[in-house]
Formats: sequence, structure tokens, C-alpha cells
Amino acid sequence: MKKLLFTPGPLSTSKTVKEAMLEDMGSRDHLFVDAVKNVRNGLLKLAHVSKEDGYDCVIIQGSGTFGVESVISSIVGKNDQLLILANGAYGERIVKMATIHQINHFVIRFDEDQVVSPGEVEKFLQSHPEITHIACIHSETTTGLFNPVKEVGAICKAHNKVFIVDAMSSFGGVEMDMKEMNIDFLVSSSNKCIEGVPGFSFALCKKTELEKAKGQARSLSLDLYDQWNGLEANGQFRFTPPTLSIMAFQQAMKELEEEGGVKAREQRYKTNKKILDEGMAALGLKQYLRPEIQGHIITSFLYPDKKNFNFGEFYNVLNEKGFVIYPGKLSKADAFRIGNIGQIFPDDVKALVAAIKDYMEKI
Ligand SMILES: *Cc1c(COP(=O)(O)O)cnc(C)c1O
Repeated sequence: MKKLLFTPGPLSTSKTVKEAMLEDMGSRDHLFVDAVKNVRNGLLKLAHVSKEDGYDCVIIQGSGTFGVESVISSIVGKNDQLLILANGAYGERIVKMATIHQINHFVIRFDEDQVVSPGEVEKFLQSHPEITHIACIHSETTTGLFNPVKEVGAICKAHNKVFIVDAMSSFGGVEMDMKEMNIDFLVSSSNKCIEGVPGFSFALCKKTELEKAKGQARSLSLDLYDQWNGLEANGQFRFTPPTLSIMAFQQAMKELEEEGGVKAREQRYKTNKKILDEGMAALGLKQYLRPEIQGHIITSFLYPDKKNFNFGEFYNVLNEKGFVIYPGKLSKADAFRIGNIGQIFPDDVKALVAAIKDYMEKI
């Protein structure tokens, strides 16, 4: 049975993306080497930068977390100080990485239902001039909020700090200009808004900063500089590459362009979100976040105030009808999440809302 994934990834992909994986592919096959090149250049273009501008794209095997960890553990040097802005599980994940790799760091924590405050970041920097790097999540998938990355980027520029952004769940579904936003490292993965299959993450990097990471990585497999060096030297990965997921991703990037690029995709996701919002509101289901800070990628809904509501049962009933939703991850409230990204179209969202309505009427 065909299932639609209303999750933040892996998500529903097109048939043609899956078909791009049907032929075995050697890692030195010119079709594969070309695909790696196309994907790296294409990703830079989506962020409105290029190699000539002084940026480059490094692909890292593994899921999104591997990419973030590769950047954090390679870029922040022994004598550097990282400031982590956290308002959800993904910000906390970076804190964990910094701890494990024994990276000097500070954390500013904000409530899960609040965005990062640029004013507080500014204030903190004034009392901590030793900070060299700042890390922030763009779309905090824990709740679905969008942090003000552009404003934080402006602060980084004014204070000459290296800016690392986890744009995992938003890149490709939100217009982003890396240079304009002063982002030095932007990380995302194959199975989010570009609608490929899982297998790798990628870091879009400012080359002058990437070069500084030479010889300072804390891990062999996650050494961002060496990974880049390998790709530049002969177009090859240092270790077994995710060949088929790169072939699928190349196709996914082509389909993104055919859809009309990031702008058109963003519009489709926003339409999905609008249908979801209206449908859920009509069923009396409340959202966790106030609308001003809510992004269009994923939404957290509070459990309904009905004593017969049981998330496990709700999940299973929807799953049997072919709709996969996502549990909540909030520290203070019971909620479930519904994503709008992937090969999901307005009629799919309407069908999901109808299935939720059925369940709500039954209980
Ligand atoms: C999906 C996601 C990640 C990476 O998670 P993986 O499970 O490792 O792919 C990191 N940050 C955010 C904000 C995400 O949404």
C-alpha cells in the first residue's frame, strides 16, 4: 500500500526519483562522477552562491546529523569558542556534539515556543568577545518555528563571527541567500525539502573558513576539510559513497527545477500548510506555536482535549489508511506533528484532514 509521509524526513518521493536508483553504479563511473559534480554545483546555486564567489559544497555520507557534526567538529578549533543558540531538540543536539568533542562552548537557551532573540545574542557577545563561532537552527523541527537567521547573521557579520546554520528541514523549501544572510556554513540533507532519499548530508561552506579547518578535525570520517580535499582532488569520496542516493538526488534536483525552483516549492508547501491549518482548526485542534513564528515546514498540534484520545491508536488508524504522521518532541506539552514537505499535494492534505475528522468523530 502506498503511504504518504507527513513527516520531516524521510519523506514521500516521486516515482522517478526512486527509479533513478535502479541501475547499479560504480563509484568511478563517469555518470556518477558527473552526478556528484552536478549536485555540488546545483546546491550552491540554490543558495545563490558559487565556487567563483568563494563557496563550495561538501557532501558527507550519513544522515543530516553527520553533516552538522562534521562541520562543528572540524570548524571550531581548539582555541575557538562556540556559541550555540538553542530552542529545541536540534539545538540541544549541537550542544551534545560540542560536549562530546570537548569543544569550548556557551549555550543561550530560549523556550521552545520562542524564537532566538537577536538582541540577547548581541548582548551576550558584548560580554563575551572570546566567541568565534555561532551555531543556530533555522527551521527548528521540534516545534516548526523559524528562527531569525538573517538577523543573527547580521550580528555575526558586525562582530566578525563565523556563522553555522542547520537549515536541515528548510533548505530547498525556503528561499535562502547564503551571502546575503552572512552564513558561512549551511547544512542540510538529501531527504528533506529537495525530496531525495536518505543517504547523505551536505555542507555549503565559505572556502576561506573551510581552509582553516585543515588538520584540526576531531574525527577521521567526519573531517570536513579532508572530505572536501578528496572531492576536489579527483571527484571521489574518501570512503564508499552513497552512489544510488546521489543518483536519486540528481533527479530530485531536476524535478525541483521543473517545479519552478525553490519559490514554487515554497508556495506548494505553504498551500499544503494553509489547507492543514484550516482543516485542523475546523476540527478544534490547536497549534502549539503562535502563528507569527510558525514556519511552513512542519506544525505541532496539541493533543485534543478529549479523554478518549490516544496518540498510539490515532497514529495506527491513520497509518492503516496510508497517512504517516509524526509524534511530538516537546519537553513541556503533549503534541503530535504533521509535515507539509515531500511529494505531498493539496489533495493529499485534504485526504489526511478527512481521515483525522473520521477519527475525531469516532472518539
Ligand atoms: C532532520 C533534521 C536534522 C538531521 O536529522 P537526521 O535524523 O540525522 O537526518 C538536523 N536538524 C534538523 C533541524 C532537522 O530537521
